[in-house]
Amino acid sequence: MRYCKRCVMPDTRPEIVFNDEGVCDACLSSDKKHAEIDWDARDRQFREILDRYRGDGSKWDCIIPVSGGKDSCYQAYTMKHKYGMTPLCVNFTPCEMTEVGHKNLEFLRDLGFDLIQIGANREVYREMSKIGFHKLGDCCWPEHIGIFTTPVQIAVQFNIPLIIWGENSQLEYGGPAHAREAQVLDRRWLEEYQMLGYRISDLVHDGFDMRELKAWQYPSDEDLHRVGVTGLFLGYFTKWDGRANMELMTKLGWHHNPGGPVEGTYTDYENLDCKWVGGLHDYMKFVKYGYGRATDNACIDIRFGRITRDEGLRLAKEWEGKIPHKYLPDYLKFIGCTMDEFMETMNRFTNPYIFKRDEDGNFIRDEQGDLIKLDYGFEE
Ligand SMILES: [Zn+2]
Repeated sequence: MRYCKRCVMPDTRPEIVFNDEGVCDACLSSDKKHAEIDWDARDRQFREILDRYRGDGSKWDCIIPVSGGKDSCYQAYTMKHKYGMTPLCVNFTPCEMTEVGHKNLEFLRDLGFDLIQIGANREVYREMSKIGFHKLGDCCWPEHIGIFTTPVQIAVQFNIPLIIWGENSQLEYGGPAHAREAQVLDRRWLEEYQMLGYRISDLVHDGFDMRELKAWQYPSDEDLHRVGVTGLFLGYFTKWDGRANMELMTKLGWHHNPGGPVEGTYTDYENLDCKWVGGLHDYMKFVKYGYGRATDNACIDIRFGRITRDEGLRLAKEWEGKIPHKYLPDYLKFIGCTMDEFMETMNRFTNPYIFKRDEDGNFIRDEQGDLIKLDYGFEE
């Protein structure tokens, strides 16, 4: 395992590219973000685009997909107060929303926003989650599709062509150049980055009824063209800073995770809405790629100069890679899985080149049952 020389991202991250000096592409685009990009020019470009969509206030003139998290609340707030738009917020309800998730959606409405919530068919949700968990190694797979399909469906249904997404995750966390420079999110982006190679048509092949999958379908090309649906990343036009977004929203009354950091990381302000994302989803990423949410958070904090690389490596080792406990029993009950079956699935997805094994090839676990990485990126 090789770690970026500047941040703490390992080369096991899918699609990340390192240059000859051993620096990852996310750090290089961060250089651009902090030094090269003319943000005033981007702002002017954005305002020109928005002028074509801005209404007189009698109708909603853009859609903001929201989780109720700090970033989506910031997006809604910025579009309304900085750019004078009249947004309609759309929330794809997680399978199991946390209490703080509910509170933050109410915060958003108290802040002066209209909200549509789509709570998808839970019978299908459960079956899709089983596929995500056992076949794809992502318990939140149905959620990761629904948050991208339902706002586009609402855009078509309500005839609101403009959708404002938040950060471009390939720009913030690394990914191929054509995706880093993207300012538009379309069907190709969805299929390439969110669906893990498994398409809706595969579900039909698995025996799912297309009529039960409405929430997870992208509208037809014909509908998209008729309405002229355009998706833009706010993170392309304004300099994105998740922590600054959090600080502004906190001042306005947004809620952090009660009781401190979310499982698997050292921050208390990300992935608060869904019971499974904060713990289990990030843990599954850890067993597959050897890094979790604390690494993601540390990379961003290092690039903003808030912590050193060494602190980042230690934070990652301290906080991520522990079997989540808080909501795991709820999840296993939801998909009808025993603890033994859970461990069997975990072992199947665990990367044998990243974690310590005994002579028989079985993973070695510490007293807590957690895996031990071969390389944490620093000498202990
Ligand atoms: Zn890096």
